Amino acid sequence: MSLIVQKFGGSSVADAESIKRVAKRIVDARKSGNDVVVAVSAMGDTTDELLDLAREVTLLPAPRELDMLLTAGERISMALLAMAIKSMGYDARSFTGSQAGMITDAQHGAARIVDVTPVRLQSALDEGAIVIVAGFQGFNRVTGDITTLGRGGSDTTAVALAAALNADVCEIYTDVDGIFTADPRVVPKARKIDRITSEEMLELAAGGAKVLYIRAVEYARRHGVTLHVRSSFNNNEGTIVYNPKNGEHVEEPIIAGVAADMSEAKITVVGVPDIPGKAAQIFTIVGKTNANIDMIVQNVSAAATGLTDISFTLPKSEAETVLNALAADRDEIGYASLQHDDQIGKLALVGAGMRSNAGVSAKLFTALFEAGINIEMISTSEIRISVVTRADSINDAVRVVHSAFGLDGDSEAVVYAGTGR
Ligand code: ASP
Ligand code: MG
Repeated sequence: MSLIVQKFGGSSVADAESIKRVAKRIVDARKSGNDVVVAVSAMGDTTDELLDLAREVTLLPAPRELDMLLTAGERISMALLAMAIKSMGYDARSFTGSQAGMITDAQHGAARIVDVTPVRLQSALDEGAIVIVAGFQGFNRVTGDITTLGRGGSDTTAVALAAALNADVCEIYTDVDGIFTADPRVVPKARKIDRITSEEMLELAAGGAKVLYIRAVEYARRHGVTLHVRSSFNNNEGTIVYNPKNGEHVEEPIIAGVAADMSEAKITVVGVPDIPGKAAQIFTIVGKTNANIDMIVQNVSAAATGLTDISFTLPKSEAETVLNALAADRDEIGYASLQHDDQIGKLALVGAGMRSNAGVSAKLFTALFEAGINIEMISTSEIRISVVTRADSINDAVRVVHSAFGLDGDSEAVVYAGTGR
């Protein structure tokens, strides 16, 4: 008998009808002889609605109380789902994050899982029940308080359950057919990927692909969990995200896919004295704001002036804090001025086969050049090349790069109304 963990996102359980449809799907997996554990998100846009409600009450909701509020969303969907399954004649039991043994650190709103002790889940399974767990939530032993794992955290719940229960597979049900070579709404000829390594998936997620949350992929990679990302609206095979064993020979295509991210801004520190210690000084100040810095570029120093410019990208929402911090220390650093640009787009080309293939960057830059798209920043890792362009050319950039690397499929991808969540 196999143990399957299934995760259903908010769009899959948006209303009573959808909950019944999902219940049937879960029962089908049970009927095929599997033990089934389900992690479920809050219905539809419940989490956003609860957030809005909190902000109507106060602009600065207390983090502990906000977690109490938000976890209510998953508690609604888990109970309704268990009821629906029971009404079909199968035993089902729902559990909150703390009942399920999701132990986290104490960081409200962005807690990390530190331990999973699924004792009650295991005995429910032993008694033959289908287990439903509220996603996105946990419990801190020291404070005794309820925590949330950050937006999209139900993916992480599912992966952590799969790891702790040693599940055979962790199925992530969403409203798209799987992981695509690019966003099908931008690139109509994007193809569904059948298999992708977790390493590539991590780079795609970091590059802006939204189907899976990065922390869930990291967790799956660290604990060797295989994911199957698929649609809850049909029975098609989705995308398998796997962890190749050491030495396992995998025929990797050179390029797995192209991701785009419009959520970043660029800050340039203009006229920095080109002497040792300046980058250290700037990024120490930036680091104190806890900003998530992505790409960093330092220009060659202009010989005549001995000055250089340093640019970096970060989430748009963090730019203001960082600009203020840098402005406060302007005299100490000794730069001329600060520039803030929130009209940038970032493209990431990802593929494990890149490692052993020269010429990938030349091909990428040529494709962009031929489309008349200017590259403003470049950064690379072993299996990724990222470039920054003007925001209004990012979609064109994704399309030309997708086709330059032969990723275009023969037919147009089916695009549902979905968000990929
Ligand atoms: N309901 C939470 C959110 O919307 C968690 C999740 O959907 O995974 O972020
Ligand atoms: Mg949600």
